[in-house]
Amino acid sequence: MQLHTKILIGLVLGAVAGAIAEMMGFGHIFVRMEAFGQAFIRLLIMIVIPLVMASLIIGTASLGDLKKLGRIGMKTIGYYLVATALAVAMGLAVAGAIQPGAGLDEEVKTQLLADYAGTNQERLESMQEPPGLQDILFNIIPRNPIAAMANMDMLQIIFFSLFFGIALTVLSEEKRKPLVNVLESVNDAMVVIVEMIMKIAPYGVFILIAAVAGRFGYQVILSLLQYVLVGVGTMVLFTITFYPITLRFFSGMNPILFFKRFYEVMVFAFSTSSSNAALPINLRITENDLGVSRDVASFVLPLGATVNMNGTGIYHGVSTIFIAQVYGISLTPGQLVIVVITATLASIGAAGVPGIGFITLAIVLEALGIPLEGLALVLGVERILDMTRTAVNVTGDSAAAVWVAKTEGELNIPQKDTY
Ligand code: ASP
Repeated sequence: MQLHTKILIGLVLGAVAGAIAEMMGFGHIFVRMEAFGQAFIRLLIMIVIPLVMASLIIGTASLGDLKKLGRIGMKTIGYYLVATALAVAMGLAVAGAIQPGAGLDEEVKTQLLADYAGTNQERLESMQEPPGLQDILFNIIPRNPIAAMANMDMLQIIFFSLFFGIALTVLSEEKRKPLVNVLESVNDAMVVIVEMIMKIAPYGVFILIAAVAGRFGYQVILSLLQYVLVGVGTMVLFTITFYPITLRFFSGMNPILFFKRFYEVMVFAFSTSSSNAALPINLRITENDLGVSRDVASFVLPLGATVNMNGTGIYHGVSTIFIAQVYGISLTPGQLVIVVITATLASIGAAGVPGIGFITLAIVLEALGIPLEGLALVLGVERILDMTRTAVNVTGDSAAAVWVAKTEGELNIPQKDTY
């Protein structure tokens, strides 16, 4: 059996086993086993920094052409901004039309506010002062690249690696070559590690999903069913419209082929809730199976893991409308534009780690003057939306890489009869 089929089976079995266990009252067994799933995520995250740095430095150094770098950079950022803004707008439109917050029971509202404000007081309090947008944007320049690596600050690492790569192009061949050789070996060794980790992937995915399903408060889902359905539904809608359209008409790639080869990355993103954890697999599949050149993939994907969050954008749009509706606040067209702008910018500086979209939602609410306690309303179902939006986020990164590669003449879709 193919590995990607096994991974999918792991996902489905995990969800079923976890849900049954929860219903029969022993969901805690899977929750206890979650540490094994977390270990699997750690293995993936372990290789992100060396992999991204080595491939980005080699990529930039081998471009040897700053114009090309600038061009790829502009296209990538352009795609990301447009896609995220459209995603937020779609979230606003769908939630505005369906009004998931309008019918929320007054009792349920009070209950949710009380429950979550009680149990998550600290978390909510720490969010009363969301970071400013300026801090997020200028933070891209690392004071100390080693600290950036230690803190896994992806944007800072990318910034430094690009400078480093550019500097190498200026050096003489004699000075550049030894370092490039070393980095190439580092890169190849990381790829070997990815292959090894993939062998246990079906089990890792099984445990992660079973633990989520075994812990889930299904009651909360029921009371927030409309919100969850609108959130997840809009993400699915975006995935089956925006990406296929850009793939087909701008990149000349059959969307079905794309999803058949790419879904494995979506499963990883879904089970880990982290674009960063899914990055090593995304790099591998986008390069090997979708045919994007290494130069393009190693620039567009790590940047996208932090900057491009289409799913998070949808989540911001839907949640803002939902919370505003529950509080009886109706948003003016001007405020809707503010949501699109703040949600797009907020997603730029947010790292690809679990739950960050929930924190940046505070920035959007604050910009509109919506009470931040409203966050408590959606906290109970946050995980399920986090999983879904992460799967959308990584899809957007790869679709962008395919498009950029196509425009650069660096897309060579491999023929595979196994798909
Ligand atoms: N977990 C998401 C990601 O890694 C970010 C978010 O919380 O929205 O892409």
